[in-house]
Order: sequence, then C-alpha cells, then structure tokens
Amino acid sequence: MSLNNATVNKPVSVAIEHCGKTFADGTKGLMPSSLSVDAGEIVALLGPSGCGKTTLLRIVAGLELPDAGGRVIFGGQDVTKQPVEHRQIGMVFQHYALFPHMSVHANIGYGLQVRGVDAGTRKKIVSELIDLVRLGEHAHKLPAELSGGQRQRVALARAVASQPKVLLLDEPLTALDAKLKESLRDELAELLRRLGITAIYVTHDQQEAMAIADRMAVMNRGEIVQIGDAQTLYQRPQAHFVAQFLGRINTICRSEEEMRAGIFKFGEKNLLVPDALGTTVMIRPENITLTDSQHTGLPGLVQSRTFLGDRIQYRISLPGHEAILVDAPGSSAWRIGDAVGVSFNIENLLSVMDYQT
Ligand code: ATP
Repeated sequence: MSLNNATVNKPVSVAIEHCGKTFADGTKGLMPSSLSVDAGEIVALLGPSGCGKTTLLRIVAGLELPDAGGRVIFGGQDVTKQPVEHRQIGMVFQHYALFPHMSVHANIGYGLQVRGVDAGTRKKIVSELIDLVRLGEHAHKLPAELSGGQRQRVALARAVASQPKVLLLDEPLTALDAKLKESLRDELAELLRRLGITAIYVTHDQQEAMAIADRMAVMNRGEIVQIGDAQTLYQRPQAHFVAQFLGRINTICRSEEEMRAGIFKFGEKNLLVPDALGTTVMIRPENITLTDSQHTGLPGLVQSRTFLGDRIQYRISLPGHEAILVDAPGSSAWRIGDAVGVSFNIENLLSVMDYQT
C-alpha cells in the first residue's frame, strides 16, 4: 500500500468566502475575508498576535460559525453548517494533545480505531506513518518519553492517519526551542509536500511561513492584507504592514512637493523616480551598498554595527534623514564613526500608498 493511497484522500480545494466573525461580546475577531486554497496546496495564515489567524482556522475547521453571509467550501461542497466531526479535517496544535497513557503507535492509530478500521489495515497505515515521521525506534514509547519535536511528529502522524481532506495546523512549532524549531520546520515542509495534502498553517513566524507554505495570507487587525508567494510578498509588498512584517526595511516618506516634482529627495540629492512611486518609499537593507568613498552615492557615517554571522547590519546616519539600516557582507570592516558612501538602485525602491505602522 503506497503512502499516498494509504494515508491521504484525494486532496480537496478550500474556498473561504466573505467569512467574518463577531464574538458574543461584540469583538470583531475577523473582518469578512476570502481566500482560496488549491487542492494539495499549503497556505500559511501569517500575522501578529490577535490578528484573527486562529479565528479563521477555527471557521475552516467548523469550530466557529462565520457571521451571516460567510461560506466555507471544501471541493465544491458547502460545509459552512457542517460540524467539525463531519468535515474530515486533521488538526495539529501548538500543544501536542497526545494521550499520555498510549504509546506512539496507539496514539497514531486511535482515530482509525474509533472509526472501526480493521486491525490489519490500521497496523499497515500506522507503520507507514511511523516510518514517514521517522519514529520507528520509538513506536512503543509513551509521549512523556519523547522529545518535543518527536511528540509533534506523532501529533502530525495522528492528524493525517484518518485521511483528512484538509489538514489544519495552528502554530505547531511554537512550543519548541529555536534550534529544534528550525530543523522540524524543514522536515515538516518536506513531509507535507510528500503527503500532497491541502493544508492551512497558522503562524506568526515569517521564516516558518516562507519555508513551509506555497502561498501566504498576511493578516493584520482581523483582515487579510495580501496573499501571494513568499518572494512576491517580500519583493513586491502592496502594504507597508506586509513589507515590514516580512523583514527589516527602511521607510522614508516623500513630501507633496517631491511627489509633484517627480523626485525623491535623499540626503542632498534629488533623485528622479518613476511616477508610480508613492508617498512612502521603502528599501530593504540588503539592497543598499556601502563604499569607502563618500564621493560614491550619499555621504553617511557609521552609527552602529551588528555582527549577524553571514552579514553585518550597519546603522548609517545621513544628513537630513533618519538613520538607515544597511546589510553588508560579514567580512566588511567599517567601524563606528567611519565615513561611508551610500548608494542603491532606484529599481529596488518599494512603494505603497497606505503608510501606517
Ligand atoms: P494569536 O497568534 O495570539 O493566537 P490570532 O491571530 O490567532 O492570535 P485570534 O485568536 O483569531 O488571533 O483572535 C482574534 C481576535 O479575536 C483577538 O482580538 C481575540 O482577543 C478575539 N477573540 C478570540 N476569541 C474570542 C472569543 N471567544 N470571544 C471574544 N473575543 C475573542
């Protein structure tokens, strides 16, 4: 029995249509939001604490009803009113919620047993999943005898054992320490791809979302701000929030006068810029170049330097501007107080109209 037909139903698409959520106390947990997830696609809901990620996930799961007008559709079938137990979803949470008195093997097979799957089939599916999550030598241990990463792999295997149509993951790596989190993140990304399952993955960690998801829906204050793949969102954010949530960025506002003149005043220089450049101009630290000569680009002074291993992040003061961050190779050797030249390509300037922090 191959992995794909043993453990995964044919993946289905998920459509979330105008789903909002007003809680009983009047809190608007989610503004009406729409999102389509293709069959077999992994989409991350990414945003800061309280932005509505879990609320949206719970609506997809059937643990919350959306406000009137909202619909959830699995593979063309409207499941909005269907309770969680009928939706054929798998869930993985931050806290593993494993049965403490059951072995790894029994935990993974529990859902199949409840559904009356015969012992032979159950054994086959569970063994296959144990191999998949590489827990062969731990199959007979209890959860308390496993590391955090191993427990989370059991939780994942258990969630997919019942052949869910859709897998929902809510901050599954948050409880793990940084090093483990990184290795399990890559492992999880590979596992989900091998399973070919439709998955919605909630996280507030942009690195995690970028590593695991095919596309990300960036959320803020109960709204989906932008949906796209990691590269598009990073390189062409449509909102200031998206630009700064996905990595460090310098933000410089242009005056009405600069807008009218079609220029961007940077230090003493008036740079001619495309008409489309809005009132807020942004540039990522890695897209700015430093040189020894103040005659190249704009003259600046090194205010601080932070060694980050693969690179050094400099804070550079510029006349008439707030200081900017610049990334340079880890081998660069400028010191605090050094005079430098600052330059960048105009094509690397990003622009959005909605400047707000
Ligand atoms: P976190 O990353 O901290 O889990 P989140 O993005 O998942 O945050 P949600 O849990 O979806 O955020 O919450 C969105 C908003 O709805 C928050 O302001 C939260 O306080 C509120 N909220 C969530 N559940 C309820 C509830 N049952 N009753 C009232 N307000 C709620």
